[in-house]
Amino acid sequence: MQKHYWLSIFPLIVCCAVASGATERFEFEELHMGVPVRIILYAPTSEIASKAAQDAFAAFYSLNKIMSDYDSDSELSQLCATGGSDQVSEDLFVVLRAAKHYSMISDGAFDVTVGPMVRLWRRSRRQRELPKELYVEQAKELVGNHLWELNECTRSVRLLKTGMQFDLGAIAKGYAIDKAFEIIQKHGISSQLVDAGGDFRVGSPPPGAEGWKIDKGGEIVLMKETAMATSGGKFQFVEIAGVRYTHIIDPTTGYGMTELQTVYLTAPTAMEADALATAVFVLGKEKGMALIAKLPNVSVEIVLPEKKVSKETE
Ligand code: AMP
Ligand code: MG
Repeated sequence: MQKHYWLSIFPLIVCCAVASGATERFEFEELHMGVPVRIILYAPTSEIASKAAQDAFAAFYSLNKIMSDYDSDSELSQLCATGGSDQVSEDLFVVLRAAKHYSMISDGAFDVTVGPMVRLWRRSRRQRELPKELYVEQAKELVGNHLWELNECTRSVRLLKTGMQFDLGAIAKGYAIDKAFEIIQKHGISSQLVDAGGDFRVGSPPPGAEGWKIDKGGEIVLMKETAMATSGGKFQFVEIAGVRYTHIIDPTTGYGMTELQTVYLTAPTAMEADALATAVFVLGKEKGMALIAKLPNVSVEIVLPEKKVSKETE
């Protein structure tokens, strides 16, 4: 949602098919959650392919309606405006529960209550000046994983302070990718790629290939049955007094992170990749790699402004 203006634009479907044995290649693209969403899949007929893609795009559309912080009518915005809900939708609950988990394992680096700080950052970007310290201090009062609760049995959510604002910009897109991926799978399609603004999930490789060719910062890699998210301030940043503040916020300071350039995070699901990429970006190189080393089937590559380090776990 960097990159991301949470727009929902009516479908522009680009579809092409290239014959390839029993299945054909189909490609579709629409704009959702403020980013181009591209689906490539191999299906036996164009009808099956189109239906699968249509259903997948519909999931993006309805998840945006639930989770957008730009839309004051979204379920998320209403939840924040009223300080809680006795029963949130299942999708929102799953994402909030995961958000709490990623906040806990990252010692609060990942924190979906950063909304008030993100608003200050957006203003800074427009005005090209840092927010007043007083505003940052006020925002800090409203940010923290301990300031909200969820109840597994009832699916209720409580925000403990007035003015709190959830921002799911670092996790909802990953969740939507997974949802779309599962929907396409249910149409009997195993060879697929769902890409939303550079974060993606891939299934089994295209027929006859060993993997999906992925451009990772200029390097072509082959990937299958995995997901990858990229976090960074390459496009979203504001430069003030020679310092580049990215749109990813350190919840302890209230300011945009300045240390890393890009984090590539590979994980079994796109939601995990999305949340962890952001968490590592905030944690920085040492702590970020230490976190990833503890997690199974997750790997990270960190690009510093000048050099590159990487670490993998199985
Ligand atoms: P991503 O591109 O996935 O790293 O997500 C970046 C977006 O997540 C930002 O534009 C904010 O909306 C939101 N965000 C910023 N800082 C944080 C943070 N520390 N934890 C969770 N979400 C954040
Ligand atoms: Mg993310």
